[in-house]
Amino acid sequence: MGETSGIRPDMPLQYMHGVGPRLAEAFARLNLFTVQDLLWHIPRRWEDRTRFLPVARAAPGEYVTLCGIVVSAATTRPKPKLPLTRAILHDQNGDALVLLWFNQPYLEKTLRALVQSRQPIVVYGQLKRSGFVPEMLNPEWEAPGSQGDTLSANRIVPVYPAAEGLTQRTLRKLVHLALQGAGDYIENIVPDAVRSRYGLMPCRQALQVIHFPPDMHHQQQAQRSLAFEEFFLLQTLLAQRRAAEREQTHTLRMKVDAAQLEQDMREIVPFQLTSAQQRVIREIGGDMAEGRVMNRLLQGDVGSGKTMVALAALLIAVQNGFQGAIMAPTEILAQQHCIVMRKLLEPLGIPVELAIGSLTEKEKRQARQNLFSGQSRIAVGTHALIQEDVEFARLGLVVVDEQHRFGVLQRKALSQKGEKPHVLVMTATPIPRTLTMTLYGDLDVSLLNQLPPGRKPVVTHWRSRSKRPQVYQGIQKLLQAGRQAYVVCPLVEESESLQAKSAVALHKEISEELLPGYRAGLLHGRMKPDEKEDVMARFKAGELDVLVATTVIEVGIDVPNACAIVIEDADRFGLAQLHQLRGRVGRGAAASYCVLIADPKTEEAQARMEIMTQTADGFRIAEEDLQLRGPGEFYGIRQSGMPEMRVGDLLRDRELLAEAREAAKMLVECDPQLSLPENAALRRALQNLRQGLEMATVS
Ligand code: ADP
Ligand code: MG
Repeated sequence: MGETSGIRPDMPLQYMHGVGPRLAEAFARLNLFTVQDLLWHIPRRWEDRTRFLPVARAAPGEYVTLCGIVVSAATTRPKPKLPLTRAILHDQNGDALVLLWFNQPYLEKTLRALVQSRQPIVVYGQLKRSGFVPEMLNPEWEAPGSQGDTLSANRIVPVYPAAEGLTQRTLRKLVHLALQGAGDYIENIVPDAVRSRYGLMPCRQALQVIHFPPDMHHQQQAQRSLAFEEFFLLQTLLAQRRAAEREQTHTLRMKVDAAQLEQDMREIVPFQLTSAQQRVIREIGGDMAEGRVMNRLLQGDVGSGKTMVALAALLIAVQNGFQGAIMAPTEILAQQHCIVMRKLLEPLGIPVELAIGSLTEKEKRQARQNLFSGQSRIAVGTHALIQEDVEFARLGLVVVDEQHRFGVLQRKALSQKGEKPHVLVMTATPIPRTLTMTLYGDLDVSLLNQLPPGRKPVVTHWRSRSKRPQVYQGIQKLLQAGRQAYVVCPLVEESESLQAKSAVALHKEISEELLPGYRAGLLHGRMKPDEKEDVMARFKAGELDVLVATTVIEVGIDVPNACAIVIEDADRFGLAQLHQLRGRVGRGAAASYCVLIADPKTEEAQARMEIMTQTADGFRIAEEDLQLRGPGEFYGIRQSGMPEMRVGDLLRDRELLAEAREAAKMLVECDPQLSLPENAALRRALQNLRQGLEMATVS
């Protein structure tokens, strides 16, 4: 009784009975601070301890849970620095299993005590067979405890993501206490009507069951119920936001004369726009004329010609007397955009301003002045644009290029610089629909699903490092024919300066050994902006044959005569990045090549190389990427400012997500302010979520 009294969801964990400062610290390492956090600390897996497999029936390669007594334990040192602890377990039939732990010599003492006490232990791990006796390497193990411990024996037992200083037993006990003590305060955020429509458990029951399931069927139901709740909460937030934006009639209504715009574009653009480009431009024009704020996501694979779409949108804004801004993720890309925009727009008398972090103070001041006074109509920049001191006279449109590089919150910060400007977000990363819904649920989506005419697919090869000489001989042939090539340096994660060093070394090797006699330029993040600009300009003008570069060329760079890209140690790059890098070539009419040099060490890395050689379809690559990496790592969701899902899995639960979205939409249509009594708990939960998100913006 005493142990559970007074426990409430918002109570800090350290006030729970039996939690001292040391445990509280261990909890903090798991990001658990309150009782509520603990209740939502979902087990990593469940062990069925109602029955254990006998050793004789367990198959090699399988992950299994076994029970037995330890009959001997000893530590040896096969190598001086590598203590190996070895114990022998006998199961209920007396069959033996060898347990091996590397580097944990302190286990020996505990294990010897178990030999004495003959207390059974439970082990979990992958079974290997070497010789006659099966083995388990570094198994997880636990002594279920004396008769009183009903949480760790004779039932389906939760196994939690754990931290140092926090045993499974302690976690189980505290979760159990939390459920008992705080159970009455757990609210049903999903309204009753929705819950019964989708067959969901009440939240309290779902939490109880997910921690201590009576069987795995109920566990699944509980998981589904909790995942739905998470999705539903977020989708309600997005639906409300969207509804609010719909309401707002726009003060920046623009006049769009489609025929006139088409003619203007024809005059300034040196080629004919694809029909996909024309369609998307019409969609954008429609938004801007409609009198509500545009929030549009433009997805177009690398090379599909998004820049021209941005140009048309900027032109609309400027012709209506507004300013426009385009934000790129790298300085090099911003500079390239600036060159294109100036070339095409300045003949029309539209001044374009470059605003990047590495300008001199004087240049920056001038740029700020020009934008503030309204003299410059278009700003091209990096995140320097969202810095506080850039002010616009009359910002009407913000274009964000390569959105996956920016969090949702950065996007908001830039659009706050104007009186609710229109926002166009462009990305080459074909984000699977489930994710667009979750991350950008408040955006409309346009698809640029057509490449400019005459493109040939890029031929992709994967070669091991031992074949480098041959690869570069092939490149020489292309250079002899007057073509150009990129060479991408291995990725060095540790620091930009190490990355720069490796680029310098590779540049030396290329110009002295691998491609002697050719003009090789060097480009990396540590160079000064005018140096970068100079190298890019020379490469573009054909004064350099080869460009040795870091991933600074990853996005956007456009040199049609470059028709080969060699990516060194390609296995260090993610799929999305490789696809982007490959997108640098295949922009002209000539056949193009991408060579991945890699000796991948993991199966996952090998799979990446294979996918790259098999397909050039950005959507397929994105789906594969999602499969390989899981949604958490996918395109910076973690940095996107969205709350992390604790139960829901964007991949596994796609359908559930769609259902939650549908339910949220309907609810917000019926009760936009959530003022009905049955929606009160939801309203409170949303307030908390909003506060949490705002705090994330500030920090
Ligand atoms: P991305 O969508 O990757 O940003 P870009 O806008 O950089 O693509 O365009 C890629 C290349 O295709 C550029 O060289 C651009 O000038 C060219 N391009 C764009 N649209 C067309 C078109 N309709 N016809 C021919 N070339 C085009
Ligand atoms: Mg681009």
